[in-house]
Amino acid sequence: MPGLRRLCSESRQSPLFYGVFEPPIRRCAAAETLIQPPSGEPLPPLADGRSRYVLARNGLFVQTRTAALEASLPLATLPDGLPYGSARIGVRLRHAPPPPSLWHDLKRRAVAACPWEWAAYLPHDGTTYRVFEPPIRRRDAGHIAYQPLPIALQAQLVLHVHSHGFGEATFSAQDDVADATGGDGVYVAVGFGRRETIETVTEVWRLVVWRWCWPFITT
Ligand SMILES: [Zn+2]
Repeated sequence: MPGLRRLCSESRQSPLFYGVFEPPIRRCAAAETLIQPPSGEPLPPLADGRSRYVLARNGLFVQTRTAALEASLPLATLPDGLPYGSARIGVRLRHAPPPPSLWHDLKRRAVAACPWEWAAYLPHDGTTYRVFEPPIRRRDAGHIAYQPLPIALQAQLVLHVHSHGFGEATFSAQDDVADATGGDGVYVAVGFGRRETIETVTEVWRLVVWRWCWPFITT
């Protein structure tokens, strides 16, 4: 919605997190780059917590694997005629998606917070989801600023949910900035809109890898 702001990236500049927060641009620079074999032979599987770039016939890819998600997604096209194989495109949740009862609980929390903004992280510990509501620094009906997810939980992060107000669910320009600079790593971002009641809440989803976003379509 116009005028909405998410300021989670700002909160990372606090002294509490100084020296721990790793900017997305640093993660982008640290990953290795491989060539997709033209023979059709697959590349070795990624270990948990690892990411890489892949030069393939169908583009430049970023591939990542956390304890919660696996993804292989195109970042850019490449010139025709390069002697590479094709990379697969897809995203996979490594655990079952949140059950309906958990979605209902998330919407209940978002509606209860109305008209204030609301946000939560959902890490999965290998057995179950946990709803982690970060300590709020300040918020009102148009923005929310909160402490980021503890670094120790980032590898388990599946969903990062936040709410808008009474308009349809959408990702705002401020959300684009927050997801590009927030440093939460790899996760599915979910936005809630139309918080009049639990029944009216609408959702938008997208996948975030470091600082890039794609529509969320599982394979
Ligand atoms: Zn937003």
